[in-house]
Amino acid sequence: MGLVFFPAFDWAISPTHPEREERLLYTKDQIFEEGLLDLPEIVEYKAGVATLKDIARVHFCVPDVKSQITDAHLIAVGGCLVLADALLKGEITKAFALVRPPGHHAMRVVHGNRGFCNINNEAIMIEYLRKKYGLRKIAVVDTDVHHGDGTQEIFYHDPDVLFISFHQDGRTLYPGSGFTHELGGPGAFARTLNVPLLPGTTDEGIHYVLDNLILPILKEWQPELVINSAGQDNHYTDPLANMRFSAQGYARLNEKISPDIAVLEGGYAIETALPYVNVGIILAMAGLDYSHVKEPDYYPGKFKESAECVQYTRNLVRQLREVWERQEELAAKHRAEEGKFRLRGEPGNVYQKYKHIYYDTDQIEEEQHETVHLCPVCPGYLTISSTANRGWSGRASAFAVSIPLYACPKCQEEGRRAYAKALDSKRNHDFIYLQDKPLDEYRRFDCARKQESSL
Ligand SMILES: [Zn+2]
Ligand SMILES: [Zn+2]
Ligand SMILES: [Zn+2]
Repeated sequence: MGLVFFPAFDWAISPTHPEREERLLYTKDQIFEEGLLDLPEIVEYKAGVATLKDIARVHFCVPDVKSQITDAHLIAVGGCLVLADALLKGEITKAFALVRPPGHHAMRVVHGNRGFCNINNEAIMIEYLRKKYGLRKIAVVDTDVHHGDGTQEIFYHDPDVLFISFHQDGRTLYPGSGFTHELGGPGAFARTLNVPLLPGTTDEGIHYVLDNLILPILKEWQPELVINSAGQDNHYTDPLANMRFSAQGYARLNEKISPDIAVLEGGYAIETALPYVNVGIILAMAGLDYSHVKEPDYYPGKFKESAECVQYTRNLVRQLREVWERQEELAAKHRAEEGKFRLRGEPGNVYQKYKHIYYDTDQIEEEQHETVHLCPVCPGYLTISSTANRGWSGRASAFAVSIPLYACPKCQEEGRRAYAKALDSKRNHDFIYLQDKPLDEYRRFDCARKQESSL
């Protein structure tokens, strides 16, 4: 099993912010204390540095990639990519990237920082793996207490990425999304599944969801790779959330899911949770005994699930299983309904989604129209128009075209034409982008300077 540690000493939102370097330092101490790095099963890798192109393969950064990131971001992603390479080359069979800053709230268009995230580590790793090794079917299980809204958004129209997130109900916690009706776009129905749990859910409830929903679906769908978007903030001592998950609960979860790669997301109880949870996860993933790993104040039976909570979770699992089992029928119905809302003036069969995105850390409001140009033989290309209101520093608007890696030649050509057309038009955008994944070419046009650059 491979590990990368990258605590990012020089990156912080503010000195007292809960997302800070100590999150990894206590874990590192505990790993030394347990002697984990002396075990032949565990190898530590040095983080690499991701390229700007790796980031442009996923994100449209406004105004450009460099302005949205620091070296710490490139190294956090780079750590994930080093482990991904080691895994695919067969040097290791499991990997855990203990890196920060986190990434799962970063969406495709990036105007700033949301939920402590600028760029999405898992999404960048997925597109890297697909481009370099030709992987296609990938599952992401988001075990962070917050809904992985960024990862969901990036893969919402991708039928080859299955995204399952369990989290504390969005009515009670940031980012306020992740409900059961969010199921993926018309070409990727039931490839997004959300399990919003009640505050106070314990090991018992989370393992009920695993055993009765997540594991059977993973078994049936047969992904080529499973990623755990591993947040430790479901822990009962986490200061930002209200769940009652334990280190043993987390370790057993990783033993059962057996992800190929885990990537650290949130978790803010830096002394009382993270060292134990992370050590438990490492031991479980390495196939070693983790039964002794526990928090000093934990004992079995410390928390008992309320009858209401048990009932709620059971109903939720039943409802989502039904969606999964009837997905073809429901997807057809969904497509027929969406068809009624086709836009006037848009050629062919398109699906449009309006989004209002708030960047809590940077206090930016974004309005976005995302249009999927549906295709009978491929996932179709996307066009996005986005305007961000930054308050003090004004507005920025962008038009972007994203051509998926597995687009058919016709959609690839149409996508490139949409970019050329946007360059010609007098529409008022500050920046125009093209993400041509089949060609691995990423263009950006600065309208004020009339300058095109490419990665
Ligand atoms: Zn989650
Ligand atoms: Zn979180
Ligand atoms: Zn197509």
